[in-house]
Order: sequence, then C-alpha cells, then structure tokens
Amino acid sequence: MELIDGIKISNNKIAEIKKRIDEIKNSRGIVPSLMTILVGNNPASQIYIKLKMQACKRVGIKSFHINLDKNSSQKNIIALIKNLNNDSNIDGILLQLPLPKSNYTQKCINAICPSKDVDGLHPTNAGLLNLSKNWDEIIKKNILISCTPLGVIYLLKHSNIEIDGKIVVIIGRSNLVGKPLSMLLLANNATVIICHSKTKNLKEICKSAEILIVAIGKPKFINGDFIKDGATVIDVGINRVVSKLCGDVDFDAVKNMNIKITHVPGGVGPMTIAMLLENTLKAFNNRNM
Ligand code: NAP
Repeated sequence: MELIDGIKISNNKIAEIKKRIDEIKNSRGIVPSLMTILVGNNPASQIYIKLKMQACKRVGIKSFHINLDKNSSQKNIIALIKNLNNDSNIDGILLQLPLPKSNYTQKCINAICPSKDVDGLHPTNAGLLNLSKNWDEIIKKNILISCTPLGVIYLLKHSNIEIDGKIVVIIGRSNLVGKPLSMLLLANNATVIICHSKTKNLKEICKSAEILIVAIGKPKFINGDFIKDGATVIDVGINRVVSKLCGDVDFDAVKNMNIKITHVPGGVGPMTIAMLLENTLKAFNNRNM
C-alpha cells in the first residue's frame, strides 16, 4: 500500500495560497474575506467552521462568522444572505451544511450571489462546471467548484495519478460530492461510472475501477472485495464511530493490498479546506479584476 498524503499536499497548496495573498496585501493593501454562516449548533459543523476559520487565519484571509439560531426561518437565512451579497467587504459566503431543516437547503444556496458562492453549489456554478468542455476551460473561466470534489482532483493530480483514459468509479451521487466530481473527472478525460444505493452488482463494478472514489457515509463499508489490484482508492467519507473518525473504506482490511489510498483523517478532509481557501481567493480575484 502507498499512502496518498492529503495533509502534505494540502499544506503545500496552503503555502502557495498564502504567498499569493501576501503579494496582494503588499501590492494593494487588501485581502480576501470569507463569511461563514452556521444555523444551529451541530457539533460536527462547529468543528468544521473552526477548522475553516483557522485555515483562513493561516493564509491571511479575513474571516467572519455568524451563528443563527437553529429555529431560524428560511426567510431569515435568505435575508441575511442577501445582505451579505450586497456587502462589498465580503468576497465569499459559506453556508455550513447540513441545515437543521433540509427542506429549504437548496433555496438558501440559490440566494447566494454566484460570484460569492465559495462552496460552488449555486446552480449557476454547477451549470458552468457541467457545460465546461475540459479542465483547461474550467481553470481559465475561474469557476467556483464544490470544494471536496475539487480537492479530490487536486489530490490525484499532485500524487502523479493519471486520470486521462482511466476507468473511475464513484460511489455516491450527491450534489455536494458525487455529481460535481463526475463532471471534473470527465473534463479530465476519465471514463466515469457513478454508483448509488440502487446500483446492482456494486462489487463487480467497483472491481473494474482503476480509480475508486467512495463517498457514501457508511463507516468501513468498502473492503478488499471491492478493490482491483493496483487501484487508487480515494476515501471521501467522514464517519464518527465511538468518538473516532473513520472513512467509508475499511483501511485496516485493505492496507496490505497493492493499492494507493487516502486515510481518514488526513486524506480528502484537509484538501477540502485548502480548496475553500482557493475558492475564496478566486472569488476575490473575480470580483476585483
Ligand atoms: P449523501 O448526500 O448522503 O450521499 C451519499 C451517497 O451514497 C448517495 O448517493 C447514496 O445513494 C449513496 N449510498 C448510500 N448507501 C449506499 C450503498 N449501500 N451503496 C451504494 N451507494 C450508497 O452524502 P455526501 O454529502 O455525498 O457525503 C458522503 C460522505 O462524504 C459522508 O461521509 C460525508 O461526511 C463525507 N464528506 C466528506 C467531506 C470531506 O471534506 N472529506 C466533504 C463532504 C462530505 P442514493 O443517492 O441512492 O441515496
């Protein structure tokens, strides 16, 4: 087994972002800014917000945070977002998910101005990604892309794992991970298969993968029976089991196989945060061009 080190790759990316922000600060006296919004007090979300704010501090992004009451109405959340859209001091807006009531999540996301949508979940940004012909076009157009899928692509590219022409199986079809990831992989010339809870013959399909990406949210669901010899395995899952984090892949069960693999923690998670910083800088640049 060869470990794909998300901490090392994200640290390099964060150092590069810091350098770019230092240059902006020195030449123009301004820095990018991010507003995070948390509705309620979900403990996991509180930890994610803390990590995101710490990362902002590391690179010199000004971060602000608003914590709304868990009973806040859709109307109140959208009113806050609209105020932030009009606030010229804010470059990026991140609405921490999940919301306490999921039935209006997309409506709240839709209220975020696409140019400040650092999570890349607004239909305009998702649509721009879907319409892109290739990776070069995605980069050139500075599209804001969902942080976790972008982090996975960055991880693969910086671990010297070829995507072009490869058979990639993604388990999970969420708007947050699976769907945008499939578009990014297509733009990088992979042959992409997306699986979900209704997929038949999951094991056999996964075994055909040269790159297997797992984003289902089921602790240690994937064992060696799903993995082809020589494959790359990217574990997106984050699950808390008896106060410890684990992925969707049973790491201990597969660690002696001839594979490249990420670990949870220390794999995709740090990349997601690095990509949030990248997106905030991108939003700043798009607004200040
Ligand atoms: P989600 O919205 O719940 O989607 C889960 C997907 O997995 C769905 O498409 C579901 O299929 C599929 N699935 C569930 N059980 C399955 C099974 N037995 N066989 C095949 N497919 C199955 O979750 P998500 O937001 O995409 O997140 C997935 C995981 O990634 C979670 O553990 C989450 O915590 C983690 N995550 C990590 C990061 C990070 O930074 N590392 C970021 C985001 C999410 P259906 O569509 O048919 O229901």
